[in-house]
Amino acid sequence: MTSPNPSSARQRPGFPAKLALHSTSVAPVRPFILAGQIASQRPTIKPVYGVGLDSSAVRQSMVAKLAQQGLTNPAVLQAMGSIERHRFVDTALVNQAYEDTSLPIGLGQTISKPGVVCRMLELLYQGRPGRLGRVLEIGTGCGYQAALLSSLCTEVYSIERLRGLHDKARDNLRHLRLANVHLLFGDGMPGYARGAPYAGIIAAAGGEAVPQAWIDQLAVGGRLVAPVSAGASSAGKQVLMVIDKTEQGVVQTVMEGVFFVPLKSGIA
Ligand code: SAH
Repeated sequence: MTSPNPSSARQRPGFPAKLALHSTSVAPVRPFILAGQIASQRPTIKPVYGVGLDSSAVRQSMVAKLAQQGLTNPAVLQAMGSIERHRFVDTALVNQAYEDTSLPIGLGQTISKPGVVCRMLELLYQGRPGRLGRVLEIGTGCGYQAALLSSLCTEVYSIERLRGLHDKARDNLRHLRLANVHLLFGDGMPGYARGAPYAGIIAAAGGEAVPQAWIDQLAVGGRLVAPVSAGASSAGKQVLMVIDKTEQGVVQTVMEGVFFVPLKSGIA
């Protein structure tokens, strides 16, 4: 199910992209060769770290805003303060990367807004001291949440059904060299039995119901966090569902309303 890695590393933009034009620390940009250009002749966009207005400061400001919203788990906030969200979005969106907004990542999918990602990770992590064990993520998307999970759990299995996004996530994550993140291309509906049982399962796409396979693959003591349809008469509304698997059975808790892309079957 895992796939090899044929493409070379992609140059990611610095942050904010437009600062490169004004920064004195950036080497002069060579003129673009518009005709007959080959990839290796393209001028590289240099990162602008070290000019004072680097992405770290903007990220800390994002974390401060999340804390003001009542999101206070130190491990989750630390992860959000260190993973560079701007590296996971397209160049044109880099300047919005630290706003609390969802952004398109291609193929009709979106990276969730930081507040929602933080909330779901806090729920997954709640009451569990230290690192979580193995976690299954349904919907790798651009790989941002998988990168956050990497520092919060021992192993991350992340499944994506769209080949284009699976490849994109692999490219985006390459520079981080996260040995405990396993990207899988496939349909996440049946879960991923080979990694089970999981201490946590987190879904970034919402279906009519939580597939039974996910609950089956949850360890006793484990927790699942997923968006799910609010019901047949809910006009497409979704709620966040928390499912705890206990010695006594499965306990479901319905949380606030959310808006996620649909959980779909099969691969494409
Ligand atoms: N966590 C992601 C969010 C991606 S959006 C991030 O950080 O970018 C949700 C993703 O779920 C989409 O990429 C969509 O293609 C994927 N998805 C939807 N149904 C799926 C399924 N059955 N199996 C695997 N991935 C699925």
